[in-house]
Amino acid sequence: MKKKILVTGGAGFLGSHLCERLLNEGNEVLCLDNYFTGGKQNIEHLISNPYFELIRHDVTMPFFVEVDEIYNMACPASPIHYQYNPIKTIKTSVMGAINMLGLAKRIKAKILQASTSEVYGDPEVHPQTEEYWGSVNPIGPRSCYDEGKRCAESLFINYHNQNDVRIKIARIFNTYGPRMHPADGRVVSNFIVQALQGNDITVYGDGSQTRSFCYADDLVDGLIRLMNTDDSVNGPINIGNPNEFTILELAQKVIELTASKSKIIYEPLPTDDPLQRQPNIDKARKILGWEPKIKLDEGLVKTIEYFKKVL
Ligand code: NAD
Ligand code: UDP
Repeated sequence: MKKKILVTGGAGFLGSHLCERLLNEGNEVLCLDNYFTGGKQNIEHLISNPYFELIRHDVTMPFFVEVDEIYNMACPASPIHYQYNPIKTIKTSVMGAINMLGLAKRIKAKILQASTSEVYGDPEVHPQTEEYWGSVNPIGPRSCYDEGKRCAESLFINYHNQNDVRIKIARIFNTYGPRMHPADGRVVSNFIVQALQGNDITVYGDGSQTRSFCYADDLVDGLIRLMNTDDSVNGPINIGNPNEFTILELAQKVIELTASKSKIIYEPLPTDDPLQRQPNIDKARKILGWEPKIKLDEGLVKTIEYFKKVL
């Protein structure tokens, strides 16, 4: 059945893949964005579709519309962008959640929050399970993002408990793929752009910190499966790829796959940069019947092809 679906942050990296998939599945999609880190170039191929609608709006302001489902993706995700205006980042997560939950409550829509592995902070539990409460520095440079997302999770669960809003919370782990902005600042796009342009590859710290990288298509598949679970599913679910790599390994892989002559250089590790990160995805496997299919090498090749075209 055709659904009417609102995607906030729909012109961003993940939002644009989500809009495309939802349209392909026969839905009507309303894409809302303030174009802070996203852009029309990400969704221009969708604009001629009569079931696609683009709205310039900021989620910190109330929004009125009639839809069946809401994916709340709006929020800058790269540290350089979310730290550019930290107060605005907090407002986007907190006021954005309040506005979208208020909307969901009024129109009885189902709503999914794009939460993050950052709610675990610099984790003492490894791999991270949904039961782990996290280790976040509440006054550090990442707190505008981490605590904003943690507050959004609290708002979601309380709107569910108090007002019966049908909620889903996806804890998304590092995701990469085509349509990341070349100046996004996150590690995969930085390394690929540096390698393709023959510039030095900037490894922060000694490169021994780890991340687990999920390809965008796998991630979007997980989000849609989560939205489609029955109403008894409302706790957070990790969505990410459990294959863990050091940042140095990632740099070497990118150099190899691009056949680049770039050299690795070392720069200071940013404050509060988590040392390790790997999702435990037992819940996603069991409840969503989902696990990532695309291996890092395969996903990197596709992403490199994309950046070759846009650079
Ligand atoms: P992105 O920066 O490419 O996309 C975010 C989008 O939200 C952009 O289009 C931006 O313009 C829009 N936006 C920002 N503030 C807004 C506001 N106040 N009102 C309306 N629109 C606004 O980032 P992404 O990687 O696509 O991330 C999408 C979501 O997924 C974010 O909520 C992010 O926190 C979450 N997430 C992403 C990752 C990842 O690795 N990509 C990991 C964890 C969580
Ligand atoms: N990083 C790096 N070089 C870069 C960009 C990032 O070494 O040019 C490191 C960063 O310090 C972190 C990891 O890569 O340890 C992932 O960073 P990213 O910003 O992509 O995501 P997050 O830290 O939010 O997981």
